[in-house]
Amino acid sequence: MVKETGYYDLLGVKPTATTDELKKAYRKLALKYHPDKNPNEGEKFKLISQAYEVLSDAEKRQIYDQGGEQSLKEGGGGGPGGFSSPMDIFDMFFGGGGGRRNRERKGKDVIHQMSVTLKELYNGTVRKLALQKHVICSKCKGVGGKKPPEKCPTCRGSGMQVRIQQLGPGMVSQVQSMCSECRGQGERVSAKDRCKTCDGKKVVRDRKILEVNVDKGMEDGQKIVFNGEGDQEPNIEPGDIVIVLDEQEDPNFRRMSNDLSMRVELSLVEALCGFQRPITTLDDRVIVISSIPGEVIKNEDLKCVLGEGMPTYKNPFEKGRLKILFTIKFPNTVAPEDLALLEQILPARPEIAIPENAEQCSLLKMDPTTRSRRRYSQQGSDDDDPHGRQHVQCQTS
Ligand SMILES: [Zn+2]
Ligand SMILES: [Zn+2]
Repeated sequence: MVKETGYYDLLGVKPTATTDELKKAYRKLALKYHPDKNPNEGEKFKLISQAYEVLSDAEKRQIYDQGGEQSLKEGGGGGPGGFSSPMDIFDMFFGGGGGRRNRERKGKDVIHQMSVTLKELYNGTVRKLALQKHVICSKCKGVGGKKPPEKCPTCRGSGMQVRIQQLGPGMVSQVQSMCSECRGQGERVSAKDRCKTCDGKKVVRDRKILEVNVDKGMEDGQKIVFNGEGDQEPNIEPGDIVIVLDEQEDPNFRRMSNDLSMRVELSLVEALCGFQRPITTLDDRVIVISSIPGEVIKNEDLKCVLGEGMPTYKNPFEKGRLKILFTIKFPNTVAPEDLALLEQILPARPEIAIPENAEQCSLLKMDPTTRSRRRYSQQGSDDDDPHGRQHVQCQTS
């Protein structure tokens, strides 16, 4: 049992979540609440990355599980504040960042998540993705007008505007914001010289269709990078568009790296006397599995078919295993007249000695709501118990 679940709740996972489940949960939420996509959810973005920072670190996770947030603080999980910046966590996770800040001549990477079914990852597919992006205005070639831009008169080139905000009687504060005249650029093209096509912005919005090749065997979280396809800006090398694959759960198969697994339910007669089952694979072939005559399949038996798992990425003819977990459905009753016949066929029953003074007691179906002994004995008083075995109780442990 963990002390608190707050961090797990933030990521929407159970406290038993595996590292992979944590990664997947963080990935989805971080992309959803990233300030580029959701500028008003900065706080949420921060909380998600803090939760992930703690839970992705085995040591910190253990401290949190045992003593909650408080003991992380006391344990000195990392000095004052204790957390890294959400952007650093994000950059580290998606592998962008990493010195990107030093390469200021390169624009930001744009990350998109794309849902793919297990079937698509098995067979490979090409998906078209439409997106909007900034491209250099072709009319003015990114200059913004007939004449090169001049220093913005509103902010005097700083790109920032300072406003005085009235907080209450006699209380004011200075609020700094991006200059609206030049949109933080520090320079602008005067109205009369402005390029009509881009309104002096140097770039225009353009619709772009990307063809995303999803190769056989690709996996959840894998990235497909389109170099230099990010937003264009004058004098800056455009960043990349990064597509992150998000594998959807399949109704029949579960994937564990290159293996697939599924459940097959057998009736008791099939488990004892043999079975055959057709299975439709993810590429729509039908394969048949069957037992060897005389072989008994037990409940929870795990078997596998070689070469019927997922194709290996970049080596698709190499496939993993298809693991099959069997469950056996027993009949609810057996006709009393068949018992003797069954007994003849089945392996002999073991000999069990019953002591002479043993008391008979009735075996009831376990009902979790009648747990307490007290409630059980309230069902009848000692006097009116028709069987006179009021002292005999079912052992529940
Ligand atoms: Zn233009
Ligand atoms: Zn300005």
